[in-house]
Amino acid sequence: MRVVLLGPPGAGKGTQALKIAKEFDIPHISTGDIFRQNLRDNTELGKLAKEYMDKGLLVPDEVTNRIVEDRLQKEDCQKGFLLDGYPRNIPQAEELDKFLEERGHSLTAVINIQVEREALIDRITGRRVCPVCGATYHIKTSPPKVDNVCDKCGSELIQRSDDKLESVVKRLEVYEKETKPLIDYYTRKDILVNIDGNKSIDEVFEDIKKALLGDRRNDIH
Ligand code: ADP
Ligand code: ADP
Ligand code: ZN
Repeated sequence: MRVVLLGPPGAGKGTQALKIAKEFDIPHISTGDIFRQNLRDNTELGKLAKEYMDKGLLVPDEVTNRIVEDRLQKEDCQKGFLLDGYPRNIPQAEELDKFLEERGHSLTAVINIQVEREALIDRITGRRVCPVCGATYHIKTSPPKVDNVCDKCGSELIQRSDDKLESVVKRLEVYEKETKPLIDYYTRKDILVNIDGNKSIDEVFEDIKKALLGDRRNDIH
């Protein structure tokens, strides 16, 4: 199963991606996570990505496409994959289609998680992440057991530097302009599934699971 998770920043893509990847046993590929890992490792890619991420802008397509294509060629993606945060504009989507087509593949489904703008801002500004293991929390809706400490590895939680209100407004603007057109793009290909992301984490996951199981019965790819 080859799946893309689409949705504005803060919609719950990363949260759902972990659950979907586990349920369907496919690798979770998050371009945002790859850039943040490179930033922590202080690589050239990390330094370059940071310039864009801090401003809430997209990292250039040539860089992003190459990273995704390298990752998709790894053995574990043979059985399928879950892309989270990629593609994020039409040129990336076209590149992904071309890459898959050249290998006789295509996407099984694009899951579009829809959340109202007000809720997005609450979700992003309340998000806290573990800088060591990458786990995600929310100060109100999914707090850690001990204040500000990661349940999984005990590290102190942080707020992503691009989750402060100023960057959030810019990221939402970039989403509207660059990423939202992908809804039409994939609707035309008849693979878009809309999911109401305003529900609880577990309810959203149940809806996604139903959609994907329905799709898999017809999965001829
Ligand atoms: P994205 O990857 O789309 O930016 P995340 O999965 O990181 O979104 O979620 C953004 C924030 O909202 C996180 O703090 C997360 O804990 C919280 N969150 C995710 N899904 C829900 C939900 N269904 N209801 C309430 N809060 C949620
Ligand atoms: P969110 O979880 O809030 O949706 P991400 O973790 O997906 O955010 O992305 C964080 C930042 O990483 C983006 O604002 C952008 O700078 C960069 N980024 C992530 N994915 C892409 C992509 N597909 N193309 C270009 N830039 C990206
Ligand atoms: Zn942790």
